[in-house]
Amino acid sequence: MTRWHRALVAATLAACRAEPAYDLVVTGGTVVDGTGGARRAADVAVRGDRIVALGPGLSTRNARRVLDATGMVVAPGFWDNHAHLVTLGEHPQAENFIRQGITTILAPQHSQDQPFPLDAYRDSVRMAPNVGLFAGHTWMRKRVMGLANRAPSAAELAWMQALVDSSMRQGALGLATGLEYVPAVYATLDEIVALSEVAARYGGIYVTHMRDEGAGVMASLRETLDVGRRAGIPVQVNHLKVTGAAQWGWSERMLALLDSARTSGLEVAFDVYPYTAYSTYSDLMFPAWALADGADAFRRRVADPATRARLRREMLALFPRQTGPGPETIQFREVASDSSLAGRTLADYLEARGRPTTVEAAVDALIELQRAGGFIGIFHGMDERDVVRFLRHPGAMIETDGDLVTPGRGHPHPRSYGSFPRVLGRYVRDSGVISLETAVQRMTAQPAQWLGIRDRGTLAVGQRADVVVFDATTIRDRSTYIDPHHFPEGVRHVVINGVPVLESGALTPARPGVFLTRGRAR
Ligand SMILES: [Zn+2]
Repeated sequence: MTRWHRALVAATLAACRAEPAYDLVVTGGTVVDGTGGARRAADVAVRGDRIVALGPGLSTRNARRVLDATGMVVAPGFWDNHAHLVTLGEHPQAENFIRQGITTILAPQHSQDQPFPLDAYRDSVRMAPNVGLFAGHTWMRKRVMGLANRAPSAAELAWMQALVDSSMRQGALGLATGLEYVPAVYATLDEIVALSEVAARYGGIYVTHMRDEGAGVMASLRETLDVGRRAGIPVQVNHLKVTGAAQWGWSERMLALLDSARTSGLEVAFDVYPYTAYSTYSDLMFPAWALADGADAFRRRVADPATRARLRREMLALFPRQTGPGPETIQFREVASDSSLAGRTLADYLEARGRPTTVEAAVDALIELQRAGGFIGIFHGMDERDVVRFLRHPGAMIETDGDLVTPGRGHPHPRSYGSFPRVLGRYVRDSGVISLETAVQRMTAQPAQWLGIRDRGTLAVGQRADVVVFDATTIRDRSTYIDPHHFPEGVRHVVINGVPVLESGALTPARPGVFLTRGRAR
């Protein structure tokens, strides 16, 4: 056959085949559409990356692909309002997020390096989930000022403003800070306002890991609201929580403050993860001055007896404000100097060395571990009643605060595997803290509206086809603090931009994710 003949045969065959009506139909499920409205029986049909029909009894005769959702809930794909994606290049499938039903991940790299320029980064990565990026304050301050403990000069501030400006031009959703960490901790309110003003010009938002989530949490909330007022920017508190046994119960006054700010006209939102332990660097247990200018400066300080005595004194006072009552509430995730410690607690560490498990001994051990490079820990320092109160509040969006993980490697916080199934299992089905419809809304339409992204977040004709199918009767998290490497149960199918990334519980190789760009108009 000549090339011309082959083309003729192909064209004839194509004409004989009926054109498929839909690329994908999700059939037989109960739709919870993200608006908060009541669930209803409906099929969802997709062509390309859009939902083109939604209703009962859609025909599947000409569908290219059918996903069975009988007995299951069909919802818009979940939005993780805050996760760490530094290693996205190595984990483009983002399996531990996809298996929770997450289709969109917002990544304020508030304590890590931000990819820059964003344009080049976007071109270099193809990933399964949709991703939203922010201009990262920590990254730009390090780049411009190193770890200096001082205010920026006028020239340094202008340079940082230029970095925000350039990130916003390249599609960042806003400015992100991690004010609890070195070097962001050295920034004053004026610096944050000056940078937020640049993000506000582009319709961006301000998201923050606040300066203090323990004893100073009320002051931190006020500071966050001040950024909103002074820079004229909507503000979002990442992982709203109150840590430290001394502060348990403060959720009530925190929510009252946020509510009054909202009543006064400020745009305020927050996100929360459903666990009573948080995970962060050992830096948290030290006063900020002790860590200024890096590891060598720290070693020099603790070698000086007077400075070390002052440090111990301050750390003793800091301990119950930052974590639970004793060294058993600090669990190691990754220890720079000894990987075998992962999963053990600081109390285990002291016992193994024949030392008392007192807070005094714990402080000395923290100093010695910090000298050897520090650690990432899991701090069991929150109260369940505070977590529930936050989850119940209408302003709460859901997040993992998780990382991209390799199954079996290291000792991650279980939130990386289980946050969304845990909300739907433990807090919706088992304890009825919020309804299924409300929980889905918090996970979908609420963040989409907050960011002004109009074509995602609900199941409706014309929306991008980000869909999750899960069994509301079985969905649950399976990772624990002791045994953290388990995918959750109950998530059956996940579709992103019309393409299945999880089909009947099996991960597909597809990477249909896109980078979100700003949707808010100013
Ligand atoms: Zn954080």
